[in-house]
Amino acid sequence: MSSTRRIGPSSENTRSAILDLIRSSGTVSRIELAEMSGLTGTSITRIIKSLIDAGLVIETGFGDSTGGKRPSLIELNVLARFAVGVSLDDARLTYTVTDLGGNVVGQLVTPGIGKSRPSDVVMRMAEELETLFRDLDIPVDDVVGVGVAGAGLDIRGGAERLSLTADEWESFAVQEALELQTGLPTVRDNDAACAALGQFWAGRMPATQDFATLYMANGFGLGMMAGGHLSRGASSNLGEIGHMVVDVDGPDCWCGSRGCLEMLAAPRAVVARALQDADLSSELSISGDDRSLRHDFDQIARSAARGNERSLALIEESARYVAVAMLSVVNLLDLERIYLAGPGFTDAGAIYARHIRERITAFARTRAVHDVTVALADPGLDAAGIGAASLALQYVLTPHTRVSRPVGGLIRT
Ligand SMILES: [Zn+2]
Repeated sequence: MSSTRRIGPSSENTRSAILDLIRSSGTVSRIELAEMSGLTGTSITRIIKSLIDAGLVIETGFGDSTGGKRPSLIELNVLARFAVGVSLDDARLTYTVTDLGGNVVGQLVTPGIGKSRPSDVVMRMAEELETLFRDLDIPVDDVVGVGVAGAGLDIRGGAERLSLTADEWESFAVQEALELQTGLPTVRDNDAACAALGQFWAGRMPATQDFATLYMANGFGLGMMAGGHLSRGASSNLGEIGHMVVDVDGPDCWCGSRGCLEMLAAPRAVVARALQDADLSSELSISGDDRSLRHDFDQIARSAARGNERSLALIEESARYVAVAMLSVVNLLDLERIYLAGPGFTDAGAIYARHIRERITAFARTRAVHDVTVALADPGLDAAGIGAASLALQYVLTPHTRVSRPVGGLIRT
């Protein structure tokens, strides 16, 4: 049962808010809904009738009597509608279809963005979505929307350099293009925020449990859930941990600063160090080519996980910087839980988790007060896809939770 949430009777979003109360309650009676929402019994009866007529909720039996006749119980008709989340990544696109309850009902993995043009990727996504719905036997009319998780910043214009690889994606509004191509309502957010949302939904986290999700793909991002909501920051760009300075005299970063985490610990930095070891790079077939960045990094991570000492040293050097950054995050936010997600943690996630855990256990200011859990994300490393689907569900079904978003393109970093 969720906590009481007062809903204004004149709100346009009352129906959606009631639907969300039913979702978060599991099974609930009309009387309980009236108590939780502050609406009258008559209003609740009217709204429930319209939700039943629309097939969104169903009556499932009777609750205990509190004197009069036993109240009928209502729950979400989870298979009435579906949402899809797409995690956009250089190496692969991951499509995750969930039902109304956020349960995963199907998944599809296809080749990543690579160096493809944005418009070509969007065309392909529309085709792949069509195939996915057909294979899962889901009518498109039952799909409420698409959530897209990708790396990057929300921008409001300006001439600042905004990504390492300035390309056509810089100013491309992927959600508008995909919405046009599919006719489905589309919402997007950065992958770290989506991964945190995926952990929240699929990990069944209580709203009282604040936590952060560290995401690693080509760079880093931090998603933060507080009080059951995504923390956003002033411009929805909270969590740019990749540009936290971890060495004041470190190498120049493309962002204009120096010694940033990304420059010292991201896959590109690890691959660059591996290339200085000719034997190792030939043994692992590392080319150093920009196009094979993820392949090269995965080779090193895999070989480190298997115990190759030279690879392990490279991954551990990266993990030490990540752990230093996460120690600062824990000290700033007094977190109890950190989850790791994203394709960068696929092979060596356990090594990163261990380094973060050890540093926090040894040095966190609150170490005498409470422990900090550091774990791989519960829904798996593709938590961002599940989170993006949840984002679509929330955006479409519970508009009262919408956050105003800045207008701008998705900037890949
Ligand atoms: Zn930087």
